Amino acid sequence: MTPISAYGEFGLIKHLTENFSFENSSTEISIGDDAAVINPEGQMVVLTTDILAEGVHFNLGYVPLKHLGYKAVVTNISDIAAMNATPTQILVGLAISNRFPVEALEEIYAGIALACKRYKVDLVGGDTTSSTSGLVMSITAIGLENPENIVKRSGAKANDLLVVTGDLGGAYMGLQILEREHSVYLANPNMQPEMEGYDYILERQLKPEARTDIKKTLKELDIKPTSMIDVSDGLSSEILHLSDQSKVGFHLYEEKVPMDSLTISTAEELNLNPVMCALSGGEDYELLFTIAPKDFDKIKNHPDFTIVGHAVDLEQGNFLIARGSNELIPLNAQGWDAFLNRQ
Ligand code: ADP
Ligand code: MG
Repeated sequence: MTPISAYGEFGLIKHLTENFSFENSSTEISIGDDAAVINPEGQMVVLTTDILAEGVHFNLGYVPLKHLGYKAVVTNISDIAAMNATPTQILVGLAISNRFPVEALEEIYAGIALACKRYKVDLVGGDTTSSTSGLVMSITAIGLENPENIVKRSGAKANDLLVVTGDLGGAYMGLQILEREHSVYLANPNMQPEMEGYDYILERQLKPEARTDIKKTLKELDIKPTSMIDVSDGLSSEILHLSDQSKVGFHLYEEKVPMDSLTISTAEELNLNPVMCALSGGEDYELLFTIAPKDFDKIKNHPDFTIVGHAVDLEQGNFLIARGSNELIPLNAQGWDAFLNRQ
C-alpha cells in the first residue's frame, strides 16, 4: 500500500485524474488551472452540489470505495436530470484521513471515472484536503440546457397526473440487507455474508443509476412535465416537496406504487411494510413528475412510467389512498405512525 505522502498533493491529483478524457465541447479549461472554465453557448447553467460524509451517508464497512465514487457522481447527476437538463461537468472535493492509502483513492476515482464515462460528464476540477474524522466527498455537478426545457418543482396544476419512473423501495431494502449482514459479520467475522438472491436490491443501493434517459423519452413522446423532482429521500417526502412548491395537493394510490417483486419479498422477510419502504426509504434516484391530463394517452402504456396519482387543490391536502379500503391516510415525510399502526 502506498502512503499519500509518497505523491504530495499536486502529484496525487495528477495521478488520480490523468486518465480522464473530455466529452463536452462546453469544457474550455479543466484541471490544472486556478479554476475551470465552461462555455454555456447561450444555454442555462444548472448547478447542484452534495456532500457525503463517512458514518453519516455511507459506511465503509460494507460500501466498496469504487461504488462510493460512482454513487457520489450519480446522485448529483440525478439532480441535474430532475431539472430536465443535460449533465456536462463535475467538480470533486475530497477530505481524506491519512489512514487511506493511494490505492483507496484510486478505487474512488475508478468509480468516478466510470460514472463520468457512463453519463458523458467531464471532471473539470476539485479540491483535496485532509480529514481527522473520516472521508468526506463533496461533488458539484454542472448541467447545461435550453431555457425552455428546464422543469422546476413548481408548475403542477390540480388534475395533473403524478408519474414515477422505474420501481421504488429497492435501494432501501438493499441497505437493510447490507446492514443485516454487516452486523452478523461484526458479531462473528467467520460467518459468510448471505447476499445471494438479493442482487437487484443490492445493486439499487450500491450502484444506482440516474434517469438521464427520461429526458429523451419524454421528448420523443412530446411531453414536457409540469413539475419534476428526483426520488432521493422517499416518494412521500418528494410528493410533499412538489406540493409545497406547486401549491397543489396530491392523492397517491397505494396499489399503484411500482415495486420489484424482490423488494416486496425482502420487505416481507424483514417484517417491513413494502409500500412504506417505497414511501420513506429513499435513494432510488427515479424521477417523479407531473403531466397535464391531455398527455395521459401518450404515457399510459409506457414501460418506463407508472401513473401513481394526481394533483388536487391544495386545500384537499396530500393523501395516500389505501389499497382495498380507500381510506385516506395523510402523507407525512416523517410521521408514518398512522400508516404503521394500521398493520
Ligand atoms: P488551488 O490551490 O488553486 O485551490 P489546487 O491545488 O487545490 O488549486 O488544485 C489544483 C488543480 O487540481 C485545480 O484545477 C483543481 O480544480 C484540481 N483538483 C484539486 N483537487 C482535485 C480533486 N480531488 N479532483 C479533481 N481535481 C482536483
Ligand atoms: Mg484547492
